[in-house]
Amino acid sequence: MRDRQVFQEKILENGIKVFFYPDPGPGTTEFRIIIPFGTEHNTGNILHGSAHALEHMVCKRSKTYPEKRSFDCFLASEGGSCNACTNFRYTEYWAQSTSDIASALWEGLFDRVFNPIFSEQDWNTEKSIIQNESKKNRFHPGQDETSKLLKTEWLKVPSPELRNIFGFGEDLNMMSIDYFNHLHSETYFRLPVYILVAGQCDIEHIYQSLSKLSTKKNNLEVIPNKASWKNKNYQTVSNQVERFVIGWSGFMNEIDLPFEVVSNFVLNYLTNKSFGILHHWLREEKGWLYSISSGVNAWQNKNVIWALSLPLSDESAVNAVRKGIDEYIIRGLGDEKTLKKEVNRRIKSSVFSFQTLEKILDVAQNSLCIYGRILTENKLQSYWRSLCTDPKYLLSFYEKHMSPQIRGECYIIPAKAP
Ligand SMILES: [Zn+2]
Repeated sequence: MRDRQVFQEKILENGIKVFFYPDPGPGTTEFRIIIPFGTEHNTGNILHGSAHALEHMVCKRSKTYPEKRSFDCFLASEGGSCNACTNFRYTEYWAQSTSDIASALWEGLFDRVFNPIFSEQDWNTEKSIIQNESKKNRFHPGQDETSKLLKTEWLKVPSPELRNIFGFGEDLNMMSIDYFNHLHSETYFRLPVYILVAGQCDIEHIYQSLSKLSTKKNNLEVIPNKASWKNKNYQTVSNQVERFVIGWSGFMNEIDLPFEVVSNFVLNYLTNKSFGILHHWLREEKGWLYSISSGVNAWQNKNVIWALSLPLSDESAVNAVRKGIDEYIIRGLGDEKTLKKEVNRRIKSSVFSFQTLEKILDVAQNSLCIYGRILTENKLQSYWRSLCTDPKYLLSFYEKHMSPQIRGECYIIPAKAP
């Protein structure tokens, strides 16, 4: 089977890196331009909310498409689409269409990002849109009251302030067309710029157009942002939960690929329906819960966080889980036969992953932005085969990163007992 994370890589003379996934399959093409300018750079001389405001403005007009949103309209009439998004470290622009208009798609996106035209009138409208957009994040950095509490009172996740992201009225009022022109020329040509290309296109032409850009070194100041414990053992009463939720978490303040891969594997192995010892214990044997949620987040600002949470029916179940969970985890991680079965299951079931170009690009982009390289399927599977079938390694990983002395615990009690 083809490794769906193998890209043709080319580093242009100006340092821009292009990653190309040729695919004759569905007759579609997608481009992504990733600029290393994001919320973390909104500091020093750069006003709060700048990266995001600039992204809004860049998407309006460009040299080849001087009418407002005319590139969007052209693409829409061809069934394609485009958009952009600003995150902590990067601003990303993407566009997709059928492959027959791939060259127009590239020209339009390239022109948008590198030759934008800013207008006073557009800025007045965008300012108001941004203020509206900022208001929908009432529970930032969470999605609701409870997750906000957990992310601020338990484990402080590496998340910028709302003002950093969107800017307040006074920040936005200080931005002008001159400011955007200066900001764009100062920030959009700094390395590392990544270009992701998937599907049919004239790749040589893409290399040529990018080669004409003059780039510079990235020495922009950044806002530091690290995960840390506020209250390592945190308890709260909430009227937003229906069940007794007990959760654990841990983190690393550095980006570490084996840590991400192994913690992801361990959590999923312990909790999945296939061979998960915790799933089997808590659901099949005890009937205490319906599902377990777990996950690992690798943040682009150099933190990897793992989390596991169990919504249980009553307090006595919580106490029993607290008492017994480590014994089950240790038993699961020490079981070489089941570990091998799990690795085998994953490798075989990977045939169902990466069904669209978009998915292929999402995963590659994530790995690129965090680790500076694309993790191939083959490399990931070799981690599973070597590290994740070795009980000795996994048990020492557990001791070092997940055992009771290391991890933090949160306990959320429903205000109205079920
Ligand atoms: Zn926005």
